[in-house]
Parts: sequence; C-alpha cells; structure tokens
Amino acid sequence: MESTAWRLAIRAARQACWQMRRSYSVGSLPGRVSGVQQQLRHGPPSQLQQLRRLNVHEYQGAAIMSSHGVNVPRGIVASTVEEVKAAANKLAPDGGEVVVKSQVLAGGRGLGVFKNGFKGGVHIVPVEDADKTAAKMLNQVLVTKQTGEAGKPVNKLFVCERLSLVNEMYFAIALDRVSAGPVVIACAKGGTSIEDLAEKYPDMIIKVKINIEEGITHEQAVQVVEGLSPKRCDKAEAVEQIKQLYNVFSKCDCTLLEVNPLAETDDGKMVAADAKLNFDDNAAFRQKEIFAMRDTAQEDPREVAASKADLNYIGLDGEIGCMVNGAGLAMATMDIIKLHGGTPANFLDVGGNATESQVVEAFKILTADSKVKAILVNIFGGIMKCDVIAAGIVNAAKQVALQVPLIVRLEGTNVDVGKKILKESKMQIIAAEDLDDAAVKAVASLQ
Ligand code: GDP
Ligand code: MN
Repeated sequence: MESTAWRLAIRAARQACWQMRRSYSVGSLPGRVSGVQQQLRHGPPSQLQQLRRLNVHEYQGAAIMSSHGVNVPRGIVASTVEEVKAAANKLAPDGGEVVVKSQVLAGGRGLGVFKNGFKGGVHIVPVEDADKTAAKMLNQVLVTKQTGEAGKPVNKLFVCERLSLVNEMYFAIALDRVSAGPVVIACAKGGTSIEDLAEKYPDMIIKVKINIEEGITHEQAVQVVEGLSPKRCDKAEAVEQIKQLYNVFSKCDCTLLEVNPLAETDDGKMVAADAKLNFDDNAAFRQKEIFAMRDTAQEDPREVAASKADLNYIGLDGEIGCMVNGAGLAMATMDIIKLHGGTPANFLDVGGNATESQVVEAFKILTADSKVKAILVNIFGGIMKCDVIAAGIVNAAKQVALQVPLIVRLEGTNVDVGKKILKESKMQIIAAEDLDDAAVKAVASLQ
C-alpha cells in the first residue's frame, strides 16, 4: 500500500521535475540548477502550474463553459474535410465566413505554422473555402510558440461561426501560490499572449485575488469588469458572465481557465472566443466526464507509454537516457550529467518497488527514443534491489537491440548479485564507480 507520505514525496518530486524540465529544455542555464532554485525561491511562472494537469481541447472547453452559462461562439468539431464542409454550411447556411481552428493542446495557434508550410493555425474563411483550408490543416503538424520544434498533430478542427469582434480583452483565472487561492487576471487589451500583454500594457493588467471559501463576490466581479472596460456590452450582463466563468473554474476543479480573447461582438455581447482549461489531476475522481476527454495523441508518446507502465517518467530533450531509483537521486543524476557537459533525455525514477517488468518497460522507452545516444543507469539499492534492476536490464536487452553505450553504476542492496547478473549476460556495459564517474563516462561515450 502506498503511504500518503510517499505519494506526497512523489508529488513534490514531480513538481520539481516540471520546473526542471523547463530549465533543461529551455537551455538557458549556464551551469546547473540555478534556474530551478530561482524558480523555487520566487515561485514558478504561471505556465508551470498548468503542467501535469489535464488539458482539454478548445471545443471541449467551450462546451464545458457553455454548459455553465458562459457565452461561446456556436461551433462544430470536425475530423474530416467533408465534416468541415458540412459544419461550415450548417453554421452559415446563407454564406458568409466561418472560423476554422486547429485543435491542439497548445496556445499561439493563430501565429503557428504547419510543417507543410501552411501559415496560421486559425483561419477566417468564406464558407465555400472552408474545405480547401481544412485540407491544408487536417492531419498536419502545427508548430507554435508553445509546442517546441516537434509540433502537435492536428486531428480535429473546430469550425465556428464568424463573429464580428469589435473588442478583444484578456481574461484568466489561475492558482496563485502567494495568496494560496484563485486569482483573476484581466486586461482591457487581449488577443495576443499574456506575456506580450504584460510587456506592452503592464498598467492595464489587473489581478483580483479570490477567497476560495467565499468564491467571487459581486464587488470583485464588478472590479474585474471595470478592469476589462468593455466598450459595448451591458455591464450587468458582463458581471454575470464573469461570475459564470468563476463558477466553471471552481465547480470543475480547474487549475487554469484562460479566455483570450474574451471578446465583444458588434451586437454588444461578451463572448469567450477561445478556451484554455486545465484541471487538477487530484480531482479526477469527481470529474470523470472531464477526465474522459484526455487526448493522448497530443501527449509525449514516451510519457503515455510510461504512465501505462506506472512509471514516474518525464521526457526531456537531451541525449542521455536515465534510469535511476529515487526522485532525488534522479534529479542529482540529471544535474551531474549537465555539469559534465551532457543533457538528460528524461527524468525517470523507477521507485522503490518497481517490478522487473516495469524495469523492462522503462528500458524499452529509453531505447525507443531516437534522441538517446547513451543510457545511464544509476541505482542506489535500498528498498529497490540491484539484482531486480540488473535482471530487468538484461531481459529488456534481449527484447530490444541495444544500439547505444550503457553505463551502469550499481550500489547498495544485492549489488554483488546485480553485478553478477550483468556480467553473465555478456552485455557490453561500461561500469562506473560512483555518480560522478558514471556521468563523466556517459558524456565521454557520446563522442
Ligand atoms: P490562439 O492563437 O491559439 O490563442 O487562438 P484563438 O482562438 O485566440 O484565435 C486567434 C485569433 O483569431 C483571436 O485572437 C481572434 O483575433 C481571431 N478570431 C477567433 N475567432 C474569431 C471570430 O469569430 N471573429 C473574428 N473577427 N476573429 C476571430
Ligand atoms: Mn487565444
């Protein structure tokens, strides 16, 4: 049975790892974990809070918001060109325009570029051109500011009615560490990313901290509307919309609700023209309908495989695959790799009670990663026994041809049996004395 303390430890390690993923993948760190430490000291930037949280597509978020009384554009999700055509005709039977939006779990779609060269992940097109545009988007890979170079596959398009937007504002609710509760962030200007807005219009951004027990008060909703300063819509109606948006956040266990743009139409309505919703994984048990929306096609396939095997794995961009027991040791291993000039391909804590088959799965995930040019196994056997790890590695190596150098550092419980198993397997292994030696050898093996 997993103890609460253990679960908490895993959570803490995960949290640290997400921060680490950012530091490592951003590549901005000259040395070691200074960036992580800095983040821990100052609190993570808001994007980090979304990570390891269920993320749903815009069309799903819009449906959730709509069911709570939030105004959203009429829209139909489509996964084929024919469906797009039918949707466009249904939304605008008398002609005119529709909006065709890529459904990927990343922001910045408007300014994104498809790998086939087609520019823009969001298009406003005449009804009769919707199918032609859709053909350039469907089943293509969209790269945005937030997807990284790999991009995200566009398997669905959200076809929406074209609204005449006269004003675009920014609205979000996030969790604030400092006040330990939700915070509403609003800006009279919107449409572009909050990072850009914060740079361009720092004085226009307002933050309203909400007491989680009380929920948003009428006065606070009014304050938010004043901050948004809508130009055309009825203020009282706007206040109601803000309350409904908060309702969604609270009732659905969101960790983030971002509507950018929260727009005004020419007929004076406030409409959520985009929807980015994240949900707290810990609420999965009471948000079953929402959690059934998970789209694994949008996730890192390595992490999907790892989560199936119940492994504590986080994919990174580096070249040295790591298999370590213990979250702290795993992070230390990543640090030392970095210190010696390498980059870790992943965080992987096989834990204290991993079975041989989990070790096999873990090894398969590492070897299947084409970026991995060396594998470093660092085990300090305590509860985890070195012989289990060794048997898992040998077993896995029988199933997958090992093409890259394998560096192993074993220490602790059953280390002699473990070393014997590895030796008798006749596998090509670079043995390491200690953590430092292992990292040096792993980095050297890349040359
Ligand atoms: P994002 O780039 O991933 O945030 O995607 P959005 O859903 O925010 O769409 C990008 C931009 O398209 C928005 O900021 C709007 O300016 C524009 N847009 C989306 N829907 C409509 C619409 O119905 N009418 C108009 N005029 N513009 C729209
Ligand atoms: Mn947007």
